Amino acid sequence: MLVGCPKEIKNHEYRVGLTPGAVREYVAHGHKVLIETGAGGGIGADDGAYIAAGAEIVGSAKDIFARADMVVKVKEPQPSEWTQLREGQILYTYLHLAPDPEQTKGLLESGVTAVAYETVTDDRGGLPLLAPMSEVAGRLAIQAGATALQKAHGGRGVLLGGVPGVLPGKVTVIGGGVVGLHSARMAAGLGAEVTIIDRSLPRLRQLDDIFAGRVRTLYSTIDSLEQAVFAADLVIGAVLIPGAAAPKLVTREMLSGMKKGAVIVDVAIDQGGCFETSHATTHSHPTYEVDGVVHYCVANMPGAVPVTSTEALNNATLMHGLALADRGLRALAEDRHLRNGLNVHRGRITNRPVAEALGYEM
Ligand code: NAD
Repeated sequence: MLVGCPKEIKNHEYRVGLTPGAVREYVAHGHKVLIETGAGGGIGADDGAYIAAGAEIVGSAKDIFARADMVVKVKEPQPSEWTQLREGQILYTYLHLAPDPEQTKGLLESGVTAVAYETVTDDRGGLPLLAPMSEVAGRLAIQAGATALQKAHGGRGVLLGGVPGVLPGKVTVIGGGVVGLHSARMAAGLGAEVTIIDRSLPRLRQLDDIFAGRVRTLYSTIDSLEQAVFAADLVIGAVLIPGAAAPKLVTREMLSGMKKGAVIVDVAIDQGGCFETSHATTHSHPTYEVDGVVHYCVANMPGAVPVTSTEALNNATLMHGLALADRGLRALAEDRHLRNGLNVHRGRITNRPVAEALGYEM
């Protein structure tokens, strides 16, 4: 198959659909790979690295869309991209169609077969192509929070790990899923005192086992949330109710009980956030303050670390990508988890939640 990877064009997107390492795998499977010149610039992979991996460098995205049988990307196609897609072509990327009727219409009109990373499933009921970005965001949340806690950044001036003779900072993680686990791991690694709150007892048991007493777990009620949030120097918002907006677990009123200069990092902001006072921010202006509490609410946190994020994403997308390249549409017929990723095929929506969210027939 002829596999193509254009440079990402969404604002401040530095990741790339294929690393040179991934290209080598496709080439080893007998495929030909086209890479747009400069596509790997954001991760420090120049055209030479892709040529060494066996790719052909092409001058523009237009060549990729015109020639490739399968287009591999990171972010959802932008208007100038979806107008170049065509019937018989496979698009393999994040799509997030439910809140995006315009893109959906564009993809339907193009006739493309679009496989969305975020709806591919696995045997354990997880979303394996979404998980790596939650791992990145969870770990990054502690770095971002630790920085915001510094006095010059508006925080209360607490070092999370403390020092000998001085108690460490307190970190409360609301939601102990993928983001929460990775936040807790980083915070515990720094020496902070960490509490994870979740409403799933089986998950709390699992976390208790994983951390073997190094992290405290708490069942999620209004009472327990209040206690843990009031005590914290840093609160990480990491709840998710699949398919729904994040519940507003920390109200504006509760904010007044928090320490002045405490920091919240609302990772769940991409689902609306779990603090009533959260609104999305950007990497160029990541924080703002409400009632003396510093808020960090960047909606695309993994974009800050494209080298790590791209590598992690490629690790997760490679096997299914190779299956699509090797077997085309047969790969979808043969693997129900990959088929769950199919969102649009030849002018029809093929994913029920997406169809229901947008009012289409399936
Ligand atoms: P997940 O499903 O693995 O974990 C969510 C956890 O929240 C679950 O353990 C669930 O039991 C818990 N939960 C649900 N309701 C709760 C409540 N009332 N109280 C306490 N816990 C509750 O999800 P995840 O992969 O960890 O993602 C968490 C959020 O982070 C999602 O909104 C996701 O979209 C977001 N995210 C954001 C970024 C970013 O850049 N901002 C990046 C990756 C993920």
